[in-house]
Amino acid sequence: MSDEAKARALDSKDKLKDFRSRFFIPQHHGKDAVYLTGNSLGLQPKTVKAALEQELDDWANLGVEGHFNGANPWFYYHKFLNEASAKIVGALPDEVVLMNQLTVNLHLMMVSFYRPIKERYKIIMEAGAFPSDQYAVESQVKFHGFDYKKSVIEIAPRAGEYALRTEDIIAAIEEHGSSLALVMFSGVQYYTGQVFDVKALTDAAHKVGAIAGFDLAHAAGNVRLNLHNWDVDFAVWCSYKYLNSGPGGVSGAFIHQRHINNPAIPRFAGWWGHDEEVRFRMEKGFIPQSGAAGWQLSNAPVFSMAVHKASLNIFDEAGMDSLTAKSKTLTVFLETTLKTSAERNPKLHFNIITPKDRGCQLSVLTGSEGKKLHVYLAENGVIADWREPNVIRMAPVPLYNSFEDIDRLGRILEKY
Ligand SMILES: *Cc1c(COP(=O)(O)O)cnc(C)c1O
Repeated sequence: MSDEAKARALDSKDKLKDFRSRFFIPQHHGKDAVYLTGNSLGLQPKTVKAALEQELDDWANLGVEGHFNGANPWFYYHKFLNEASAKIVGALPDEVVLMNQLTVNLHLMMVSFYRPIKERYKIIMEAGAFPSDQYAVESQVKFHGFDYKKSVIEIAPRAGEYALRTEDIIAAIEEHGSSLALVMFSGVQYYTGQVFDVKALTDAAHKVGAIAGFDLAHAAGNVRLNLHNWDVDFAVWCSYKYLNSGPGGVSGAFIHQRHINNPAIPRFAGWWGHDEEVRFRMEKGFIPQSGAAGWQLSNAPVFSMAVHKASLNIFDEAGMDSLTAKSKTLTVFLETTLKTSAERNPKLHFNIITPKDRGCQLSVLTGSEGKKLHVYLAENGVIADWREPNVIRMAPVPLYNSFEDIDRLGRILEKY
């Protein structure tokens, strides 16, 4: 059987194959591009336009009355996203709220859960974290009047390695012990694609009396999460990567059940977090509504949330179990295809730095060809992602990527 026939056979057996037709696939010279950057910006579900039109029509026809009389009353909009979001991150619906954007939510969560005191002020995070997270952490530490260098402990891979070892992270957590306020990690490392052991890190943080918070930008919709049972204190994520909800889309926040109604935890408040029974009395004195929803500041960004709602419906239908099962097979197929094409074409030198604990993304060191190879791929209709100094990231997404996509990539690589 030819490689192409093998890929076609895998596609025909794929239970999720029909989901591809629910997305707009970017075009290259009139053909579907090989889109491997769903980790950066997920593709547009075809249901999005109608979902937006619904809200535009309600606004046109009802004006302010849309808050209560719209098809999806805007007053309660966040509630329409809770159930599906909770399933994706493994939470109770009350523990989740969709609001703001990712870095804003990270700050809001740190306001509540990073409260350094003289003896306990440090934050442990991965070295080379996504820049926005680094800046958020740096500015929070400085905001509280602490020294950045002394307060932020970055864990780097061992010499010659690319991934972090869980045992090394845990050893650092234990070492800093009683001076540690917060363990702040990503769920999936954006550069290497490594999946961190969220439960193990949470347990280790709690053992020394620290809080465990996670940025799940590259994890939500990509890997199995079980935030409630893992006892994670807080988490944040964006909706525009694996969750396919458009550039700058609304962000999610998780706050564990044991914190959501604890009045001792301070927060920055706004009217949308106020008890909704009395919100429109416009009275003095903030009374948080129950649940993570009590962390909302502003009235909901309905257009962005309408897009997200449409996208979440697709996840609900496909289910994270089926998605992660296909993701594993598809990523192994990509790995094999990269190896085979390098065997067939001596100009290619690939070193996959993503460890076995991974979602669908592979990060590939490309030797001296680097940027040139990336340009060649783009010219041939492969949309992959280049990261300095020398990594190409490729993420075959189980909702809309096919085995045939990967096979096409292989044949393009062989002709390089
Ligand atoms: C994508 C990403 C961001 C982006 O932050 P925005 O506030 O959505 O612009 C931040 N952190 C991580 C880890 C990311 O992967």
